[in-house]
Amino acid sequence: MPKNIHITKKYTKVIDNPIALFWFYILVNMAPSLYFAITQPIDIIGKLVIILFPLGLYMTIFSLFKNSGAWLLLCFPLIFLHAFQIVLFYLYGEDVIAADMFLNVATTNTSEINELLGSLLPSIVLVCALYIPPLVLAILQWKKKNYLDRFFRRQTLRPALLLLMASLLLSFFSVNKNTGSFAFKHEVYPINTLYNLQFAVNKWNRIKQYPETSKDFYFQAHRKDTQHTERQIYVLVIGETSRADNWQLYGYNRKTTPNLRNQNNLYVFEDALTQSNTTHKSVSIILSDVEAKDYNNIYQKKGIIQAFKEAGFKTICLSNQAENASFIEFFTKDADIYKTIRTTDTKTGITVNHYDEELVALMEEEIEQNSGDLFILLHTYGSHFNYMERYPSEFKNFVPDQVNSVSRSYRKELVNAYDNTILYTDFFLSKTIKSLEQTQAKVALLYTSDHGEDLFDDNRNKFLHASPTPTYYQLRIPFIMWFSDGYINQNTSRMHAVGQNRKKPISTNTVFHTMLHAAHIQTDYLKQELSLVSETLVTEPRMYLNDHDIAVPYLKMNLKKEDFDMLEKNNIQE
Ligand SMILES: [Zn+2]
Repeated sequence: MPKNIHITKKYTKVIDNPIALFWFYILVNMAPSLYFAITQPIDIIGKLVIILFPLGLYMTIFSLFKNSGAWLLLCFPLIFLHAFQIVLFYLYGEDVIAADMFLNVATTNTSEINELLGSLLPSIVLVCALYIPPLVLAILQWKKKNYLDRFFRRQTLRPALLLLMASLLLSFFSVNKNTGSFAFKHEVYPINTLYNLQFAVNKWNRIKQYPETSKDFYFQAHRKDTQHTERQIYVLVIGETSRADNWQLYGYNRKTTPNLRNQNNLYVFEDALTQSNTTHKSVSIILSDVEAKDYNNIYQKKGIIQAFKEAGFKTICLSNQAENASFIEFFTKDADIYKTIRTTDTKTGITVNHYDEELVALMEEEIEQNSGDLFILLHTYGSHFNYMERYPSEFKNFVPDQVNSVSRSYRKELVNAYDNTILYTDFFLSKTIKSLEQTQAKVALLYTSDHGEDLFDDNRNKFLHASPTPTYYQLRIPFIMWFSDGYINQNTSRMHAVGQNRKKPISTNTVFHTMLHAAHIQTDYLKQELSLVSETLVTEPRMYLNDHDIAVPYLKMNLKKEDFDMLEKNNIQE
């Protein structure tokens, strides 16, 4: 009994002490900033700014009103940002909440979130332990009318303002070691997060207006070889989260691509990188002629399906991805025939899980029902987390693949499950090719993935993709083309070019131009210097589309020693 009394007494004391609560509120608000100060690649003065500015800011905010409890509750959106930020630290180890991250939240669905939630559990527990107590204390404080006195508030406001001024001054002498500059909107939390949120909201609004801003766009595309007699089919297969390093075709020591390994007429592009590690950006680059360098033109443009349509092809899009109100949806729904097998329950938001091979049967049906020349887009779900759900049981080749929690201790199981998804992708692609072979048409097929994936590969313990700072494993993707005998026989110079180009450094910005050029489509928007079936392919330093939609050479994307080691080991060029 005495023990209980003691605890109650102590608790009552804290709640009765508004000054102690004031500092406690500030401390919990400072948590993300302290972590930033440790992890950001910034000089020591910059690190001081990262701490002093938010300290001054929160001291100012909390000394403005006597009821600091109510004030903390009003600041709940800020607490929510802190929580989001800490979960991201747990997931990626560094980086501010990116604009793309806000957009990913807006474009994801309940199933994807559910699949991810389990892996984030430790960070969610941490966030609750950190922020529920101050919120409870704030309610109690408000209820008890335990307010800060005027003297303390006035006494605190002065140093708080001084801290703000000092941090502004010091920022002139601060440097981010990667960019060589220092800006509050990029470096100082929570300013950087709020800036990214505002950037994301603006972008979201622009995306919403896309149907209007792009409505008058045409490629003025037409076909050069109208004399052909045989049917032509051009197929673009977009993979999901597939990384080249786990493909046997790319030198992996496991037999993950046994079918493709023995596939005739297959061309493997050995050095391919994505221009973005984020699905909605990467796929929109794959599906259009915009690239990292001119991404902002996307709001006025249309996609590859429109170009094929204008050139007289019947266009078919078959998807195993949920619709998500991004450019992917705009571009794919332009098709004459659009079907998605990944339907969402409107009430629960849960999607029904389908395996990619269902797309092949659908494709066969469409090829049979639609005579004439076709452009077919297959948007797969490939190796998207949760890996175990991407393949049927017959593809449980690498075991154990049962992942009970996402952590380094389950790396073996995670990699096994991931490798099974590649094995299944190999099966899916070879089945697609077989089915296309049987049509007797002239066929060109291109497969690439939107981005790769981290799988606890090194001491950084990175997992998944879409981190604001990419990694080697997220950047390097498989990129293959297959041609039917009929196509090869009639396109000698294009095939010669493919043979020459397959060792060159390429990016996802080549897809649009390669497909159009392969199909003999002409438009002013076709750049033969980006076509892999062109002898005039030009290679230049590869670009990456950063979080603010600016093109940056991928080597300047804050890659780490572990990444550079892998780039060198696999002979990946600039
Ligand atoms: Zn993706």
